[in-house]
Amino acid sequence: MWKARADLHTHSTCSDGSLTPEELVREADIIGLTWFALTDHDTIDGIPRARAEIERRGLPLELITGAELSAYSPQSKVELHILAYGFSPDDENLKQYLADFQNERVVRLDRILALLAEQGVPLTREQVYSFSSGTSIGRVHIAQALARYGYVISPSEAFQKYLADGAPAYIPRKKYTPEEIITLIHSWGAIAVLAHPNYFNNKGLSEQEIEMEFGRCIAMGLDGLECWHSKVDEDLRRVIKRLALRHGLILTGGSDTHGNFDNRPKIGDCRMTDSAMNKFLAAISPA
Ligand SMILES: [Zn+2]
Ligand SMILES: [Zn+2]
Repeated sequence: MWKARADLHTHSTCSDGSLTPEELVREADIIGLTWFALTDHDTIDGIPRARAEIERRGLPLELITGAELSAYSPQSKVELHILAYGFSPDDENLKQYLADFQNERVVRLDRILALLAEQGVPLTREQVYSFSSGTSIGRVHIAQALARYGYVISPSEAFQKYLADGAPAYIPRKKYTPEEIITLIHSWGAIAVLAHPNYFNNKGLSEQEIEMEFGRCIAMGLDGLECWHSKVDEDLRRVIKRLALRHGLILTGGSDTHGNFDNRPKIGDCRMTDSAMNKFLAAISPA
């Protein structure tokens, strides 16, 4: 067992992290990682930037392409996050998905703005866009704009008053089932790994029920489980390892860092065994 030669779960400013892809690369180098996956939510914008930074500095760091997608399980009513690894950023199916996704976000933004206008809040698209650096525009940016233009005192009040589930300007995101997301990831030639599998735990399910939920995802073609994550405790890890052995699944480890926020994992705050890493590398390498 070694500590932190690989970190397969990280977020940059391209989604909701505080460090740029370039800064993450520099940190990965400082702590001596060999493998590093950038797994921003619903975007791959950071990947060419991270790759360029590695090349510019001539670092002995291997970048693994990744992304984190959200799914909703109608059976257990839990939101699941699924990590995609090992795709080509030029894959046509991937590009189509990202274009559709971005389009959906814009449509949702317009619907939220229309509802806000009905509430006497004439916020504009441009005002919201000034708070987003990437393509992944969302409620966080609307909340920031509402606070900046004096409609609320803080972004959290914006959620409470207008944007949260049940509030007057709430529009839910389009929901994908785990099966749809896994199939999509496979269509990119990538593998699908269930992120922080403790989400089922948080619902208070028994060990047996958790195994059933995992079993459903495995039957849909899930390739692996994130085994070494700060939110996965020893009891759950035992279940994960048992299932992995039974179904020949890949096990991954990642810090899920969002940058240098207090009390949150930093890059490299994770473990992974050599054999798990080798199996992962074999799975993402084209045969
Ligand atoms: Zn997640
Ligand atoms: Zn994450």
